[in-house]
Amino acid sequence: MTKITLGILGGGQLGSMLTVAAKKLNIKTVIYCDDQEAPAQNFCDEFIFAKYNDKNKIIEFAQKVDVITFEFENIPFKILNELNKLKTVSPKPSVNRLLQHRLAEKDFINKLNIRTTRYVHIGNKKDLEPLEDFLPGILKTTTMGYDGKGQYPIKNLEQISSLDIDFTKEYILEKLVKLKKEISVIITRFGNNKYEIYEPIENTHKDQILRHSKIPADINEKVLKQSKEWSIQIAEELKYIGTLCVEFFIDRNQNLYVNEIAPRVHNSGHLTINAYNISQFENHIRAVCSLKQIPINKISNAEMINLIGDQIIPYRDNLKINDKQYFFDYLKKEIKEKRKMGHLTTLK
Ligand code: ADP
Ligand code: MG
Repeated sequence: MTKITLGILGGGQLGSMLTVAAKKLNIKTVIYCDDQEAPAQNFCDEFIFAKYNDKNKIIEFAQKVDVITFEFENIPFKILNELNKLKTVSPKPSVNRLLQHRLAEKDFINKLNIRTTRYVHIGNKKDLEPLEDFLPGILKTTTMGYDGKGQYPIKNLEQISSLDIDFTKEYILEKLVKLKKEISVIITRFGNNKYEIYEPIENTHKDQILRHSKIPADINEKVLKQSKEWSIQIAEELKYIGTLCVEFFIDRNQNLYVNEIAPRVHNSGHLTINAYNISQFENHIRAVCSLKQIPINKISNAEMINLIGDQIIPYRDNLKINDKQYFFDYLKKEIKEKRKMGHLTTLK
């Protein structure tokens, strides 16, 4: 068998973990990233540092690889589309275009008769004034947001004037859900009705950043079944190839809502590395490289904590963990306050 070379756009921790999974499958990786310090360069076979709109470098990258995927959804659609003419990009660029825009994404989900939060498009400050009904709510940029970036919680109309909102950007205003819980479902789709789906993961966020994930999620049968059914429906409708994550809200009345869809491997799925026979990363590689689909099995219950900012320091300095714990250091040079620096998975 000739050796496959996989190109990955983006060089953060998700890129690193994809690369490690690829290595296990004897697949070579070339990472393309616009960050010179990108941590994934420590793990990949070849690293290209260039801007995403550097046409020559993008062509050079395409020539080196057989298949292309990405570790984050905010890569300009134009670039993905150009690349797709040279080599297959999986998941396909049109999926990315849809899901990188919060309004298009939510419209798509609602068309499938799947519940989302109530939302409305905001083009300028004036649009907010008659929307008391949507408050308390969260104003979110339609594009480029992650880890709560580009989000403004708004309690009441009076508060709006005091907020320093950049209205050169577009937003959606979402009604705040009285959250009981958040869960996510990770699914890897290989083709028509061919997929591997992980059990729902229960997630805890602080300041809109994921802190903690665990399996099993403490949820009722109905929510469990519905979250999996909706995830399958979404993956099938998108004709998705690869690993996808659906983030859900559960309110106090046990209603389930889709929050957002990530067209990529996901932070909440890091525990699949140790808790399953096949991780979300390996499954993604298997799907995009057309390798064999292997049924997934849970080996153990698990929990994962994100090590954010200087929480990484004690683990780096003095690693005291037991044999059911797995520490991952993303090898980011600079510690920043809200930066995901590593994670710790504990098998239960
Ligand atoms: P990001 O793209 O940054 O992940 P999300 O829309 O997932 O943005 O928001 C991040 C977190 O903020 C969610 O996981 C949730 O904890 C909280 N949040 C976002 N929107 C709402 C909402 N409408 N109601 C309640 N909580 C919300
Ligand atoms: Mg999110």
